[in-house]
Amino acid sequence: MIVDILRRAKRNLLTGGFAKTVSLFLTDIGEEKGVFQHPIGKYLVNLSFDLEFGFGTTFWGQDIEKALSYGKISRTNLTPIVNFLREEVIPANVQIVAALLDSDIKTTSVFNARQQKMMREQANLFRLTEEDIAILKSHKLEIGLHGYSHRHFTNLSETEAEKEMLLATEIFQKKFHNQPEFMAFPKNDIAHTDIIRKYGIKSWRSDKEHTISRFGVPLGHWFAPGVLGQNDLKKLLSAIKEMRQGYFLHLWGHFTEMDVDVLERLVEVIKEAGWEFTTVKDFKKY
Ligand SMILES: [Zn+2]
Repeated sequence: MIVDILRRAKRNLLTGGFAKTVSLFLTDIGEEKGVFQHPIGKYLVNLSFDLEFGFGTTFWGQDIEKALSYGKISRTNLTPIVNFLREEVIPANVQIVAALLDSDIKTTSVFNARQQKMMREQANLFRLTEEDIAILKSHKLEIGLHGYSHRHFTNLSETEAEKEMLLATEIFQKKFHNQPEFMAFPKNDIAHTDIIRKYGIKSWRSDKEHTISRFGVPLGHWFAPGVLGQNDLKKLLSAIKEMRQGYFLHLWGHFTEMDVDVLERLVEVIKEAGWEFTTVKDFKKY
């Protein structure tokens, strides 16, 4: 109890009552810089989920059990969350690791033998079923790409980046019958943007708030209740309204950080604060 009070007092002293990441974020967006045009007179939230089921994440090289447990949590939360977004008519973005769509992975140069073995053993986990795809299609979600293999683009050669995009866009078009236009780079590590654009990507999540590329959307804030709970979110939204005449707030995360009940409470906070939801496509009108 006393520890709690002391902790709260210390937090108030250091960050004006906000969690540290929120406080830093507010300091950063207080200034208007970069090329991104925020709306005027409108406050918009863009919820953005990277969907990977733990596939190809950094844990693959270290802690396979951890990767698998993240994958299973994400798998459990996916359908209830997407159904909730649909029922409540909440536009949002979902970016897919395209290998999850591919039932015919023959790309030995992309995955090593150990990874291929794991993909075979965990085929049920690392595969988006036709039913999953139908749920994702059935709402005004903007479905985009999160790479093909989840390798970081900063580690790829030009040839590898080409291959990654070719594989990703081919299987995406086959399954969704349209062209992906938004991309979240794995780990938000941005590279090879000329190649990305050649494959039809019109916009991507930037790695900073004040993006200097006209194709980037500001990084925004990690949408995880551990760092942005109901209270901090509420304070964040009202602080932005005080600072800016309008704002496009990108809140990005995964299906691992929260279940549908927690999301529902956070959505309630956003609505009560008078913010609306949008997709990147609807906002940028590309
Ligand atoms: Zn990712």
